[in-house]
Amino acid sequence: MSSIDLNATKSPHILVLGMGGTIAGLASEPKDKPLQYEAGQVGIGDLLAHIATAVPQGLSLLSRQVANINSRNLTEPLLSELGEVVRESLANPAVIGIVITHGTDTIEESGLFLQATCGKYAHDLGKRVILTGAMLPANALGADGPSNLLDAIRWASISIDNCPGGIFAVMAGRGCMAMDLAKRHGTALNAPIQSSPSSSVGLINPSWLSGVKAVQDSWVEDLPIPKGGEWPWVEILTSHAGARLETITHWLSSDVKGLVLAGSGMGGFHDAWKGPLDQAISQGVALVRTSRTGAGMTRTDIPEKDPDGCRAAGTLSAPRARIALQLALNAAKQAALVGKPLTWQDFFDRIADLPEIR
Ligand code: ASP
Repeated sequence: MSSIDLNATKSPHILVLGMGGTIAGLASEPKDKPLQYEAGQVGIGDLLAHIATAVPQGLSLLSRQVANINSRNLTEPLLSELGEVVRESLANPAVIGIVITHGTDTIEESGLFLQATCGKYAHDLGKRVILTGAMLPANALGADGPSNLLDAIRWASISIDNCPGGIFAVMAGRGCMAMDLAKRHGTALNAPIQSSPSSSVGLINPSWLSGVKAVQDSWVEDLPIPKGGEWPWVEILTSHAGARLETITHWLSSDVKGLVLAGSGMGGFHDAWKGPLDQAISQGVALVRTSRTGAGMTRTDIPEKDPDGCRAAGTLSAPRARIALQLALNAAKQAALVGKPLTWQDFFDRIADLPEIR
């Protein structure tokens, strides 16, 4: 019989953190309308009890409910809390790995956030933090949550021993770096992972693994986790046919600290934005350019030369670029407090310039 020993805090265990999401969701008519459900209804203890008999023999699990939300409502203070819990738990010698059940809508943001704030720490300790979720609620026929959770637990444990420590995600039988996971389809069961460079859970793909190692070698220092109330205000604005200059001027009298521009194609934006964006830069608003296409690189000075104060986001999608910019602005502020002359651009580039896994 596998053990889910909720009192084994001192003996080696996998810590499973519950954040909510569809994996913890319940449909009122699961047979006929499985997609009409409420996310974040089932506690993490119950999700684990449901898979108890399938957990590998001898593996102890402990759980902690950090939140039980629909992840579309994820907040910055909650991200800070999650990051602090992960760092604190990684430091605990009894924790051999961490699994996080999370809603898939914003798993992209949490994946990038955890990589940027805890990735080096997890790697150095040789411990894996695994994000997972589900596309069908817990009581739907053929719910994908239980198998995703089991795969994540296996991946977090020592049973996949050629994979280094770090921040990963597991969905639909495949694993990837959590910073590569993004939901790019509204309903498909493999939606969060289908566009991510990944490996099968059962057999680690060597070329994927060498890509992971290249990223980890380049990630030399974790960025500080902003305090709950100290996240800089950053918005995402999308360029489109008929874009208006008011989309930018609207923000010029606000306290916004940064704008992520989801441009068209290679990340260019409508000419109507040029004047007000120059004005934003002169007011000290940080600008990051990415592409609304959902894939590919946004390169410096392409399609036009970037003004000082505007950075290209590399492979970062708009939601990831937003988190990266917030962390970079916060890191620059912290650095200034201890007299280090580092700019937000220095920190942002570290995240945006990581090698791409193919
Ligand atoms: N809306 C849900 C959430 O993000 C979707 C999911 O979990 O897949 O919490």
